Amino acid sequence: MKISEIFFSIQGEGVEIGLPTVFVRLFACDLRCTWCDSMYAVEGTDFKDMSIEEVRVEIERFKCKRICFTGGEPLIQQKELEILAKDLVHDGYEIILETSGHKEPPPVFWTDSCLISMDCKCPGSGMEKRMDFELMEKLRPNDQLKFVIQDEADYEYAKGILKKYKIKANIIFQPVYGSSLKWLAERVLEDRLERVRVLPQLHKIIWGDIRGV
Ligand code: SF4
Repeated sequence: MKISEIFFSIQGEGVEIGLPTVFVRLFACDLRCTWCDSMYAVEGTDFKDMSIEEVRVEIERFKCKRICFTGGEPLIQQKELEILAKDLVHDGYEIILETSGHKEPPPVFWTDSCLISMDCKCPGSGMEKRMDFELMEKLRPNDQLKFVIQDEADYEYAKGILKKYKIKANIIFQPVYGSSLKWLAERVLEDRLERVRVLPQLHKIIWGDIRGV
């Protein structure tokens, strides 16, 4: 597998925010979001080739049963990822899969041990045309659909998507790093978006915009 990094930190985003988690960042992505904060896992040569077994050993080193697969886009390495995830579920791990809304996760991620955290890319990312809204409608109530919001245009777009599609999953609005959390919170309150959770990236508040946290 092409692995960008494996590290232990707290979950900084979404409904599991604050929980200790082992992060496995898989290298490569087929999208190019304008505001991407992990380009080192998208382009270049900064990755390690590891066998599934080597990744598993590295995960076990942290003695924590919660794993987050992130990227890049983890589903680019779907075959290997599926084998690894099945093995981890079998051994009692809880898994979060962070993915964009354009690739259907394989069956293991639809089991009770896994939470799918799907991004709906807004126009500010430049990737909105790649999104598959029917896939987002398949998300379960315990999964999450995350909108990373840069400005008013993104906010209105996200609101429109929630109106148009039947999303059962938790809804997260997260400002692009550096944009105003207060502005976003106030917009959500003004519009009475009762299902929306406004959340920051907690790890960046704690440690700043650095790798490995
Ligand atoms: S999908 Fe994620 S990793 Fe890929 S370019 Fe967008 S923000 Fe970066």
